Amino acid sequence: MKPYELIHIETATPKAPESAVMIIYTGGTLGMVYNEEQALVPFDFQNILDEVPSLRNFNLKITVASFNKLIDSSNVNPSHWDDIAGLVEDHYDEYDGFIVIHGTDTMAYTASAISFMLEGLNKPVIFTGAQLPIGAARSDARENLITAIEIASQKLNHRPIVSEVCIYFDNLLLRANRAKKVESVQFDAFQSENYPVLAEAGVIIEYDFSALRPYQAEVELKVRKNIQQEVAILKVFPGISKAFVEGILSINGLRGLVIETYGSGNAPTEKWFIDALQNAIEKGILILNVSQCMGGKVIQGRYQTSKDLQSIGVISGSDITTEAAITKLMYVLSHADTKEMQHKYLIKPLRGEME
Ligand code: ASP
Repeated sequence: MKPYELIHIETATPKAPESAVMIIYTGGTLGMVYNEEQALVPFDFQNILDEVPSLRNFNLKITVASFNKLIDSSNVNPSHWDDIAGLVEDHYDEYDGFIVIHGTDTMAYTASAISFMLEGLNKPVIFTGAQLPIGAARSDARENLITAIEIASQKLNHRPIVSEVCIYFDNLLLRANRAKKVESVQFDAFQSENYPVLAEAGVIIEYDFSALRPYQAEVELKVRKNIQQEVAILKVFPGISKAFVEGILSINGLRGLVIETYGSGNAPTEKWFIDALQNAIEKGILILNVSQCMGGKVIQGRYQTSKDLQSIGVISGSDITTEAAITKLMYVLSHADTKEMQHKYLIKPLRGEME
């Protein structure tokens, strides 16, 4: 059985639709309304035109693929990524763009993963969500959803303006694998410190064409599913113990580790720490160095405290986010066969996720 139900909505009737957009509804706060008992419950997308009447101003064919089991995004796992990527794959030719409604908590992880899984993407896949449910009076859901739909359907010279995976939130369009959730209360929940904002929505939607990934003519979409999960994240902190580090590195089947280090990629230089990482690398575990800072990048060798990491073969993640790093590691372990290929993919940008 398909894990979703398809709901068709015509905002254009009786005119012919100008664009077709598929909305993939996975759950999260955006789609919630209050029921009679004043409890928040997922909203039935059949009624979207009642909830967001301004959608009637667009001439659109909208299809909502509503997950049978709507989830809080804390429960997202790679099988949901397969479902999202599979929907884009199965309906790629039918729609001008795709919206993914997703909880904000893990949106940056899912959107990053999807950016890696959709190789050769030439259409917009825009993730959005909300801090307040669509049923709440002051909700940010309507604006986020309407503008995401507008961006997903916009074209210039018969080509989509956006041809990559993005997050649209609180007036900003961000590259998905550059974005991070930075705020849990205010509306400006996402930022991409290391990459320019792709577009800002005010009276008009102003795109930064120099930052958008260019449309690539004659490229075919290849969807890479079945993402491996044998990875871990190790955040260093003052006082980190040998038992903790060795415990993580001895996890059965571990194939990749993101190490979140200080500043420009620095970590303790104690012998037991470096030895533990070196043993893991010798066993074939890939270790990717990512900074705990929001901005800037890893430069291994800049300080004495990162020289050993470099010499034992820890890979620099440069200016990648942790969310993009862990999903890229999962992707690379799944779809690059040899150690050399995996290494090669990790040190270069695959989808604009690092410089
Ligand atoms: N916990 C919710 C989720 O991530 C929060 C949200 O939707 O913004 O699903």
